[in-house]
Amino acid sequence: MILAVAEHRRGELRDVSLELLAAGRGVADALGTELHVAVVSGDVERYAGELNREGVDAVHTVAHGEEFNHDVYVQALAALAGDLDPGVLLVPHTVNGLDYAPALSSRVDYPLVTDAVDLRVDDGTLAVDREMYGSKVETTIELPADRALVTVRPAEWSTAEGAGDAAVEAFDAPIDESAVRSRVTGYEEVAGGDIDIGEADVLVSVGRGIGEEENLDIVHDLAEALDATVSASRPVVDNGWLPKNRQVGQSGKVVTPDVYIAIGISGAVQHVAGMKGADTVVAINNDPSAPIFDIADYGIVDDLFDVVPALTEQFR
Ligand SMILES: Cc1cc2nc3c(=O)[nH]c(=O)nc-3n(C[C@H](O)[C@H](O)[C@H](O)COP(=O)(O)OP(=O)(O)OC[C@H]3O[C@@H](n4cnc5c(N)ncnc54)[C@H](O)[C@@H]3O)c2cc1C
Repeated sequence: MILAVAEHRRGELRDVSLELLAAGRGVADALGTELHVAVVSGDVERYAGELNREGVDAVHTVAHGEEFNHDVYVQALAALAGDLDPGVLLVPHTVNGLDYAPALSSRVDYPLVTDAVDLRVDDGTLAVDREMYGSKVETTIELPADRALVTVRPAEWSTAEGAGDAAVEAFDAPIDESAVRSRVTGYEEVAGGDIDIGEADVLVSVGRGIGEEENLDIVHDLAEALDATVSASRPVVDNGWLPKNRQVGQSGKVVTPDVYIAIGISGAVQHVAGMKGADTVVAINNDPSAPIFDIADYGIVDDLFDVVPALTEQFR
């Protein structure tokens, strides 16, 4: 059986949970086994309803506390895994997932492979594809499909759709409170943290091609005309023209908007790692050989200082 672990934060199930179900279903089909999902803490009954998608065979809930807690997750999931004996455990490759996956791996004695971008089954072996050296090299790690813990990179799979009719089972995890050594006392947004670019439907993203901070006005105008959110490549953030929480990419945020408009962005692998899950990519760049055009659905080869104001006028 495959056991996927859902993730939530501040009362919302995160998209990666549903992506894990799609990834898990693929592995379960290849192995001819069941897909189960576990959700720990928070409003588990509501989350269980949202996780009950087509292809899910069972949902296990652990009602304990509200938010993510390292010690609670490790204890609860180790106990659940001990009960269910899953062949493959799938955990999101997120800040939370990376926090507890190594400890869980040690506790249940499953080998851990992190940051999977693809999963395949070959003759009883689980093949996990990972990217290295800024996505320039791809490696495959093979491990037994009856004992593997894998963290799955967000935005690599589409989300599982369609309502399911899986049984929802409450798991009474024996949590040793004396071993719970940390707790969430609140959330503090980073500067400019009013915006979560990961939640935006339309992103107008600006790169070094904008030249200088004063020129950002034309980008904000376009975003306003489209009711979109402004994001950026790393040089724009490194220059202090936009706050860090606007950065898309490997060392920024992974985003999956409906539309991503890349303005003066070359399309370096570290940037593309954060936005390749966008539904539609529009690139504006005066260099026809810029790599961003390799993944763009629509490309405009021209000077952004002509194109962006013209688009804004049209959209207005
Ligand atoms: C470990 C590591 C992590 C990294 N993480 C990230 C990350 O999270 N996010 C990220 O974005 N980068 C990241 N980078 C940096 C990344 O390698 C690139 O340097 C960066 O993405 C380039 O940003 P850019 O496309 O805005 O700038 P450039 O590569 O300089 O591209 C600017 C583009 O603008 C175009 N242009 C210039 N003038 C005009 C004009 N007038 N009209 C139209 N087009 C114009 C140019 O043709 C060019 O293609 C990381 C690098 C490393 C090593």
